Amino acid sequence: MVDKVKKEKVARQQMKEQDPNVRKKNFQEVPFGYDLETAQLEASRCIQCKSPNCMKGCPVSVNIPAFINLVKQGDIEGAINKIWEKNSLPAVCGRVCPQESQCEGECILGKKEEPVAIGNLERFVADYAREHNISNSSASCKSNSETKKKVAVVGSGPSGLTVAGDLIAKGYDVTIKEAFHKPGGVLVYGIPEFRLPKEIVSAEVAMLEKLGVKVECNSVVGQIVSLDELFEQGFDAIYVGVGAGLPKFMNLPGENLIGILSANEYLTRTNLMKAYLFPKVDTPIPKGKNVVVLGAGNVAMDSARTAMRLGAENVKIVYRRSREEMPARKAEIHHAEEEGIELFLLTNPTKFIGDEKGRLTGMECVKMELGEPDESGRRRPVVIKGSDFHMDCDLVIVAVGSGANPLLTTSTSDMETNKWGYIVADEETGKTTKRGVWAGGDIVTGAATVISAMGAGRQAADSMDKYLKFGW
Ligand code: FAD
Ligand code: SF4
Repeated sequence: MVDKVKKEKVARQQMKEQDPNVRKKNFQEVPFGYDLETAQLEASRCIQCKSPNCMKGCPVSVNIPAFINLVKQGDIEGAINKIWEKNSLPAVCGRVCPQESQCEGECILGKKEEPVAIGNLERFVADYAREHNISNSSASCKSNSETKKKVAVVGSGPSGLTVAGDLIAKGYDVTIKEAFHKPGGVLVYGIPEFRLPKEIVSAEVAMLEKLGVKVECNSVVGQIVSLDELFEQGFDAIYVGVGAGLPKFMNLPGENLIGILSANEYLTRTNLMKAYLFPKVDTPIPKGKNVVVLGAGNVAMDSARTAMRLGAENVKIVYRRSREEMPARKAEIHHAEEEGIELFLLTNPTKFIGDEKGRLTGMECVKMELGEPDESGRRRPVVIKGSDFHMDCDLVIVAVGSGANPLLTTSTSDMETNKWGYIVADEETGKTTKRGVWAGGDIVTGAATVISAMGAGRQAADSMDKYLKFGW
């Protein structure tokens, strides 16, 4: 009789996590990550497709089946080198990329069961490499002594770091100019420690510095030096990756009451300035007992979960659309709800209320329902008549989006911007309308993702290399 014993199917391996009741009081990372055995088990689920869909879903085309196969074989050094061929920040991407709508969203296994946990595996491999001091062999600098042309990178977010890494590896003299006192962009000042430990970002920056990249902080380009002055100082090409960090508000009555602030300010004070250590540090932060966060993207989830960790008694997320339309990653919504954050969906604020000292005490809201589709095809939220109600709150964090900061663009001639103030750049190369200047990341696309900012950086670095060798 033919032996019909089938190999037992391996279920998708979950990462262990801190208990929600414990973690909501600390800033340590929520998931613990895989160990080698679990990573190999998860890697064994990949069926090594000949034409892998997962790669089509990866904006930087990491060879996913190849790195997973190396994990399966226990060759983690091989796996990290395979990832580094395409992605210089895997420990970051393994944690914050929206894998469910990218690589994992395309994984063939996802049609019948759960997709391979590509993000968790990427994170495991990158963490293993950092813990075992494995460095990026492909990033060793080629000396371009023939020219040693100078490149300035304005902004040290994921797009600027990618450009800097790619161009130093090609042998150029690279200087990053960063406005803040610490490099890393949103990875440092926006995304909280419990989602992305800062030591990971500083390790990536340290690796670039080891390769020769100069990082100049407290350097606000457009204020202390213009792009034209950078050319006069001897830079041959410039990459602008200044992000889209200008907060948006809702323009509602009472919005200037004490106790209403933008998510950008709230998260920057907490993450970058460590305001939760006040008075040991100089930066105070309003803590709030009844906190409301307006918006439902990743920024809103990060703000709500930060407020919980800073000691709020109640944290509510107020969003005018439905659960299905929440832009945040599903995992972040799940984590937020596990930590006790309440969602008030199809709800919109109309006015903020304060006391005689100008301090916020509450807000008026209305309930919404989804009506006819608008130009974009999404059903438009409309107010339900007579649904007004009051919500008590002493802190409101506005996380309804951000825009382009005009500081650099308005102080630069010949660089075209669109009607929203974003820089106009060629989609394939990142070339702007100003000779010798490239741009990419959120300052071109508007608020997007880490991996798209990195992808734009990589394309621009290739184009800058060609320009520096052959001209505009
Ligand atoms: P940034 O990361 O914004 O970096 C720009 C840098 O330029 C900053 O350091 C800034 O200080 C500096 N700068 C600005 N102006 C100047 C100047 N004039 N001179 C010098 N330097 C200047 N994406 C995901 O993929 N997954 C997530 O989970 C996720 N969560 C997020 C959570 C939060 C709270 C936020 C705010 C964003 C999140 N994003 C997430 C979006 C993602 O972080 C951004 O799309 C990405 O960081 C954009 O990269 P960037 O390099 O274009 O700009
Ligand atoms: Fe493996 Fe899924 Fe990619 Fe196929 S699509 S190679 S199963 S990760």
